Amino acid sequence: MLAAIMGFRPFRAARRRRILERSPIPDELWDWALKEHRIFRWLGEADRSRLRELATIFLGEKIFDPVDGAEVDEELRVSIAAQACLPLLGLDLDWYDDWSTIMVTPREYDVRQKDVDEAGVVHEYDDEFAGEAFSLGPVALSRADVEASGWGDGYNVVIHEMAHKLDGRDGRFDGCPPLRPGMAAGAWRAAFSAAFGDIRSKMERPPSRRSARRKGPRIDSYAAESPEEFFAVVCEYFYEKPHLLRSEYPEVYAQLVLFFGRDPAEA
Ligand SMILES: [Zn+2]
Repeated sequence: MLAAIMGFRPFRAARRRRILERSPIPDELWDWALKEHRIFRWLGEADRSRLRELATIFLGEKIFDPVDGAEVDEELRVSIAAQACLPLLGLDLDWYDDWSTIMVTPREYDVRQKDVDEAGVVHEYDDEFAGEAFSLGPVALSRADVEASGWGDGYNVVIHEMAHKLDGRDGRFDGCPPLRPGMAAGAWRAAFSAAFGDIRSKMERPPSRRSARRKGPRIDSYAAESPEEFFAVVCEYFYEKPHLLRSEYPEVYAQLVLFFGRDPAEA
């Protein structure tokens, strides 16, 4: 087993060097992607060139699969690659090596859901999805939602789905990715469970006309769905609105700084 692993890594490194040499992202396209999206503004020179390398290899290794007539042009590919690799600046591409396909739909799509309630009655309904991350499988992204991502307003379907992929690296989608050396699982759990409890309580509180605005959650209420959705949503805010996340949930923000190895609010 060890021999296979040792043989595999140099092969991968050589393949990645070849991608960088033979399939660079054209300057014009790369400059467009960085200027077009506000979330890249805080990056210094070194991070910009690392992001470009990561995005180039990402494009060489991932397969784009248009669904329902979605148009997948170079701008969209580079835009997805750059945003997908942003969380990897302090990590590396191996975090995404257990999946390879990105399905692109033209816009949000309906998924037939099925729930069984406490009385055993099956309810079927359509849910609208902007994206999905399948465990051990592809990622689905709606083109319209990719185009609405990266503007610095808190919404980012690409980072959201990539966060699910990071979370699931240890085989569990539970809002806790495998932590990096030096991080304490107890500190992570304490920060995230307190914040998740807070947003749940804000959602459950009956709306009061006077206090609704002040007391309601300041981040997308979808975060209150589950611990794994909370993690994916705060990752969006970490890059889209870092100051807001830091002021709302400073402990969560601090854990994400340790995990991602970057501090967008301080840059
Ligand atoms: Zn999600």
